[in-house]
Amino acid sequence: MGEAERGESAPRVRVSFWCANGHETQPSFATDAQVPDTWDCPRCGFPAGQDRDNPPDPPRTEPYKTHLAYVRERRSDADGEAILAEALAKLRGEI
Ligand SMILES: [Zn+2]
Repeated sequence: MGEAERGESAPRVRVSFWCANGHETQPSFATDAQVPDTWDCPRCGFPAGQDRDNPPDPPRTEPYKTHLAYVRERRSDADGEAILAEALAKLRGEI
């Protein structure tokens, strides 16, 4: 359905959003619509914001991260020791 079929369309405004990877996307909104604070970047899926110099942080949980990388990132020694102990116990056949 093209704009011609709907007749005169409501005025729209383009708003630029930038993601943490520097991608710019320009969705358009009806002038009376509320523009959201963030917009999902269509190229990488990161959230994008209207402040080019200060884009929203990328999502914390990234699917390609291994469990070990995730544990390391948290820098929790206690958790690390628990996992090591569990791994050692498995090696010894205790679990
Ligand atoms: Zn992006």
